[in-house]
Order: sequence, then C-alpha cells, then structure tokens
Amino acid sequence: MKLTRSFEFKDWKNGDIIIIYGAGRYGEIAFHGLEAMGLHADYFADRNVTEVERLGIPIISPDEIVKYENAIVLIASLNYFYEMLSFLQGIGKDEAYDILNLLKVDIDDGLLSEYALDEKNNYRKYFNVVNNNGLDELIMGHCEIVLTERCTLRCKDCANLIQYYKKPCDLDCDSIIQSFNQFLETIDTLLELRLLGGEPFLFSQLDRIIDAFIDNDKIKQITIYTNSTMLPTENVLKSLQRKKVSVHMSDYGKCSRKIKELDEVLTQNKINHYIHHYDKWSDLGALESRDYSDENKEKMFGMCFMSKCYTFYRGKLYVCPRAAHGERLGAFHNKENEYIDFNSNEGIMERKNKLKKLLEETKYIEACNYCNGSMHCSTEIPAAIQVNNH
Ligand code: SF4
Ligand code: SF4
Repeated sequence: MKLTRSFEFKDWKNGDIIIIYGAGRYGEIAFHGLEAMGLHADYFADRNVTEVERLGIPIISPDEIVKYENAIVLIASLNYFYEMLSFLQGIGKDEAYDILNLLKVDIDDGLLSEYALDEKNNYRKYFNVVNNNGLDELIMGHCEIVLTERCTLRCKDCANLIQYYKKPCDLDCDSIIQSFNQFLETIDTLLELRLLGGEPFLFSQLDRIIDAFIDNDKIKQITIYTNSTMLPTENVLKSLQRKKVSVHMSDYGKCSRKIKELDEVLTQNKINHYIHHYDKWSDLGALESRDYSDENKEKMFGMCFMSKCYTFYRGKLYVCPRAAHGERLGAFHNKENEYIDFNSNEGIMERKNKLKKLLEETKYIEACNYCNGSMHCSTEIPAAIQVNNH
C-alpha cells in the first residue's frame, strides 16, 4: 500500500503554503514541475544544506515545518524518502505528498541541472520507492560499479578522474561479482545499478556482469553508461535486450563518434536506451589539496550533487567516485569510516550497521578537500574537452 498521495493541482487551494522537503535534484524537479503547473513553492526544507535559499525561495530546517500547520509538504528525495515520511508522521503531519506527478510534468530540459534531468528521465526509480512501502527497509537509489579504468576518450575534466590513469586496466570480473553480491546481501532494494568505466563497452565481460545480476530481485534496473564511441559485441547486445536493462548514451558532440550507429543498433535490437546531450559540466577542478576547513568541507558536501553518487570500486563502496579514484591514484587516503570494504570477512549485521552509518552520518569526506564540488553555484565548463586532442 502506498503511504503518500501523489500531489495534483486540485490538492492546492488558494492561500495554501507549499513546502518542498528536499532541496537536491528531486527538489529542483518539484520546483519546476510546480511552476509548469502554474503553482509556486514557498519553501524548501532541508537539513543538509547550509544555503539560505535555492532557486529564489528560502530554505528552512525540517524542524520548522511544524509551524506551517496546513502546509502541503512534498517529499522530494529518493534516498531519504521513508526517513522524511517518518519524520513528518512524527511531527503530526499525517498527510504527506509524493512528487510522482511532478516528475511526469513537461518541463523545459534547459531549466534542469544535468543531475535533475537524469532523475526525471529515470522517474521509475522514484516510482519504485514510493510504491515500496519500506519504512524499515534499506533502499538505495543508485550505485555505480566501475568495470574498467580504460576509456576511449580522455576528457580533461572527467569527474571520475579517468584522465589521470597512466596504466588503466579492467577489473577482475569474478571479484566484482563476488564482492557486489556481498553488498547486495546488506540492502533490501537497489533502484538502479549503473555499470560504467571508463567506457563499459571496452570491458570484454560486460555480458557476464549483466547476467550475474539480472535475476536479483533486489535490483530494479540496470543502466549502462556509454560515451557513444563504440558498438557493443553480439554477446553484449543479447544481454542488453532484457527488460530491466537500459543504455544511457552520453552525447558529447563530435567526441561521441558512433552515436548514430549505436542508436540504430540499439533500436534494431529493441534495447531500451536514451540519449543525454551534455554541453556543460561543473568544474570540479584538479586533484590537488585545497586546505579547506572542516566547516567548508561539510558545507560543500551538503550542497554537492555527487555526494550520493555511490561508487563500487575494487570491492569497496564509496560515497563519491572521486574518493574511490583519488585514493587509487595516490592523491590521498580515505578515512576508515568513509567507505565499506566488501572483500573483508565481516558479518552481515556489522556491514549493515556500517552501511547505515555511511549513508546517514557522513558529513564530508577526505576527497572533498581535493575538489571544487558540483553544485548549483559551480563554474560551468564545456563538456568532454579532450586532453592532447585525443
Ligand atoms: S568519456 Fe570522458 S567523462 Fe566519460 S569516463 Fe571517459 S574520460 Fe571520463
Ligand atoms: S565535493 Fe566531495 S562529494 Fe562532491 S564531488 Fe567533490 S569529493 Fe565528491
């Protein structure tokens, strides 16, 4: 049974205050969805951001929601959906709304950040959370498995730091399957498993990875992230034909040299896919220490779009890909509480507790000191500029 109502225009009466609970990417979609409906949000409520306003409206603490007795509160989060719902119930707000309908409203793509647009295109993830009825369950939005450090491009500003690898290599397929299965044992639902690299079509055993996880009911969707520079093999094409699988084709203009052929091949083979055009990226900056204070790191982590970009790399789960690759590249060491090692012999309960802590209590990570962050106020740079005219 669904525990929330999906907000519709008719739920609003003249004078009602609208609060969007969650000022991240789902908050952004809710804000623009309301505007497209002809409504205007009055506040964002968010515990983790330190800005005073976003998109021109004030951000209040969730503790203040109680002051607005008849307010319409929209839950605009995936990872914290049930935590927020439970909080609202705790302060006597028995009627909370989800933003399913707002995710389906026609919004001009240009108004949304690339992260928000990705979530909007993938609205089934939110749909699955809302219909999961999982107050006590551990539901994760998405998790990315790095299959290879090799890439067909060498982007100067790759957020995953792939451009810094001098001897990039593929990861061991058996080890990935074994350690990721250990991770799956600790959670109830993973809404989206993302397979990426580098370039995942360079990983010769991509079909084995898909086949290993396709029948796991905990995983609701598998997405392969490609830079559209190469075509998959026949074996991979077969694996991609499964209903639960889709291909995210990044369009980097001229760099994505096989985009047309790939689109055709995937269409011919009836494979779910969508093209995401990227003009601009946030400038995360070079991999060097910034000497930020702890307070600054916390502030940045709270605002960063990538702070829940869970990355599974060499058997360990990190909260952000820069933490995983930055350490591998020798730039810094992650602290012990900033990742979970699924190669170790810990028991499930111990791991579950660690995972909950990682998801709920991380305030910042060492990697933030080596980064500009990716947020609303970030400097934008052209996407996919190649190093040495690769
Ligand atoms: S295509 Fe560019 S951004 Fe994507 S993994 Fe390769 S180097 Fe990084
Ligand atoms: S600010 Fe921190 S969380 Fe955000 S991208 Fe940089 S390292 Fe990752």
